[in-house]
Amino acid sequence: MSTTRCRIAPSPSGFLHIGTAKTALYNWLFARSTGGTFILRLEDTDAERTDEAYVQAMCEGFKWLGIEWDEGPEFAGEPERGAYGPYRQSQRRELHRREALRLLDEGKAYKCFCSKEEIEAERQRALEEKRPPRYSGKCRNLSPQQVAAMGDRPYTVRFRVPEGETVVHDLIQGDVRFDNKEYDDFIILKANGDPIFHLAVVVDDGHMKITHVIRGDDHLTNAGRHVMLFHALGYPLPQFAHHPLVLDEQGRKYSKRLHGANVLDWRDDGYLPETLINYIILLGWTSEEEGREFFTLEELKHLFTLERLSKSAARFDRKKLDWLNGQHIRMLTPEKLRDRVVPVLEKHGFDCSGRSPEWLTRMAAICQEKIPTLNHIVEYTDFFFRDVAWYEEKAVNKHWRAPDAADRMRLIRGTMNAVADWTHDGIKAAYEQLTRDTGESLGKFVHPTRLALTGKSVGPGLFELAELLGKAECLTRMDRAIAYIGRLGEEQS
Ligand code: GLU
Repeated sequence: MSTTRCRIAPSPSGFLHIGTAKTALYNWLFARSTGGTFILRLEDTDAERTDEAYVQAMCEGFKWLGIEWDEGPEFAGEPERGAYGPYRQSQRRELHRREALRLLDEGKAYKCFCSKEEIEAERQRALEEKRPPRYSGKCRNLSPQQVAAMGDRPYTVRFRVPEGETVVHDLIQGDVRFDNKEYDDFIILKANGDPIFHLAVVVDDGHMKITHVIRGDDHLTNAGRHVMLFHALGYPLPQFAHHPLVLDEQGRKYSKRLHGANVLDWRDDGYLPETLINYIILLGWTSEEEGREFFTLEELKHLFTLERLSKSAARFDRKKLDWLNGQHIRMLTPEKLRDRVVPVLEKHGFDCSGRSPEWLTRMAAICQEKIPTLNHIVEYTDFFFRDVAWYEEKAVNKHWRAPDAADRMRLIRGTMNAVADWTHDGIKAAYEQLTRDTGESLGKFVHPTRLALTGKSVGPGLFELAELLGKAECLTRMDRAIAYIGRLGEEQS
């Protein structure tokens, strides 16, 4: 194993957002492509916003995508894994405190006794004067005697931002320079002893020996603070890579209120995790092979490099996602597709238990080239599981209104009845013979049959579905259709 150690550090205050999935994927692929370690650390210090249900939803999202962590917290009965735990930030509070107090001892941080009211008044003044709100530095230079004189008064711990410049050497953004004057002395420990995000994240990254911090560029300004803290705490500096956020189709930040912001929405809509992985990687990474867009997870594990991460944000493109989903559905073996569509059918109340695995595989196979999502299996195959209760009106008008419609259907039924070899090829041969005998196109027989057997004008190939439906059932459905056409004729006359 290489020494590469990278992590995803989500705050479980919501579901697994597509942007977080993107960050996780980049970290995970980087770990996999370098033989390193991928760590899941839950940044659950904000007790008010953290919810156990979100922890579950997030981990479930990672699992669904196939992003497995090498080190991380206990989940779904699996124990915590890794030698650098605990992997829940809330359980590392003592360490954060200890490190903050060390900074205090070393004079790299100081106690601030300003009350909330004072800070708020300062903030208001800044807003009125249209200045960015900053801490005045009032307690920065208190003498030891002045501090001692404060007695038991509550205090926060502030980081003493050094003078000069901080440079974040970013693998994606290049060198990003910050004049330290842009930062005020920020709080690292609250009055109640809880760490502030900046401290917690740096202490944890330091102690977990993280070598690469790959995350969204909304953290780029924070990275300046983090670099200062890394130096102050004496930890080796990890490499940073800040990648752009995911934008929606309108080019705005992908709001968590939008359907699809939650990765599991796509699962519910019948998309494959393979598709999402492939799609998400394209939101910020390009292959060396120009124009190539289709990738499997296995391929990505070998192809992924940080160097090819893009600096510019990609817009969500639903059409591309749909196209990829079709591609990935076609890539599955029919058995794998069967195993994915059977639960969808069962969820819709269709009982598959009476069908053999072979039959179900063939059912999946005849839809494989056609369905855009797993959920489409329902409309492509429901007629196998229930009688045809209605016929599509447009197709009825097209195929069954002509005066000779019933005769045509009788002719087809007769042809069907005479088929001795009830297989795709046997049925097809009979229909082709019919076209030769009548001089009419195949469509003139195929479309009305499809309507009789399925009630619809689109679906799997007719000969395949007829074979699977069985001869007796096909004849029954033809009889029903002929009776229906008869009733149509009566209505018309
Ligand atoms: N917990 C932070 C977030 O969810 C991530 C911090 C980091 O990756 O450094 O945005």
